[in-house]
Amino acid sequence: MTVCGPSIMTVSGPISPSSLGFCHSHEHLFLAAGRSAELNPALRMEDYKKTLDELLLFKSVGGGAIVDAQPVGCGRMAHFLEKASAESGVHVIASTGFHKLCFYPDDHWIHSLSETEIAQIFASEYEHGMYTDADEHRPTRRTKARPGVIKTASDTQGVKGPYQRLFVAACEASEETGLPVISHTEMGVGALEQVKLFLDHGIPAQSIIICHLDRALQDVQYHLEVAQSGVYLEFDTIGRFKYHSDEEEARFILTMVEHRYEDQILIGLDTTRERLKSYGGAMGLDYISATFVPLLRNYGLPESTLQKFTVANPARAFTNYKVPYEGSSSVSKRVR
Ligand SMILES: [Zn+2]
Repeated sequence: MTVCGPSIMTVSGPISPSSLGFCHSHEHLFLAAGRSAELNPALRMEDYKKTLDELLLFKSVGGGAIVDAQPVGCGRMAHFLEKASAESGVHVIASTGFHKLCFYPDDHWIHSLSETEIAQIFASEYEHGMYTDADEHRPTRRTKARPGVIKTASDTQGVKGPYQRLFVAACEASEETGLPVISHTEMGVGALEQVKLFLDHGIPAQSIIICHLDRALQDVQYHLEVAQSGVYLEFDTIGRFKYHSDEEEARFILTMVEHRYEDQILIGLDTTRERLKSYGGAMGLDYISATFVPLLRNYGLPESTLQKFTVANPARAFTNYKVPYEGSSSVSKRVR
């Protein structure tokens, strides 16, 4: 499919941002056996049929698109993403990039390749297709499907030490491809230094998505400071009751809206095997649509705002920034 003008790269090819639809901005649809699953068995999700059932459930409640936040060489299952997207009719935006270093074995290429070599792996996935053998060794085999976003991640070391080379490689790949970055923060901490690094490397604020900010809700001032930089704030701890209740999450989102940051909010469930219904957990990919959006509605948020979190904001955030997308209303204003 050829798209002229602004586009979002999905595993089935580029689409127009206006056709993205209702979008969860951070999930994990599949995760192969490997170091991540050894560390936490709840992360392993490799049952094609069970994940497909979740996608069909998502589709049945009006779901349009899902961002899979598992990067290259870290258990990502590119073939399954491509097949499940085609079979369910749900757009899937896949990730290149890197995760926390604890998720890779000691002899993994992520530890030894140079900054330039790693940037080339990320950028070449966008240009030629996602690697399918990157968990085992320096990758050579690919599928046709391409990633639509670059995942980055820091732990308590922040963007320094062993992470610096990886963050810079991700920035170089972003600059080359125009792909937005979606960045893991550890318990919501370290966002400001990540944002500074991205901005210093020339990535537009509107193409930076900071994840897990809602793991810690207490310090509103901190959230406001991150929001002031213009980046997207991703609230993906919805339905994770070990951190907080949905009511606390809803009140927090309301506070951010009162401060006029509704155009910068993205939402998701950041699912694991432990939580998904089809794998035996308590909730499914219908949870935001069936439970959380109605809760926000009860708190008085209008449809136009709810539509921003789930449709309009992701459509802008995941658009390749070489040809920006401002949404239909501003585009038509510009044309006039
Ligand atoms: Zn995640």
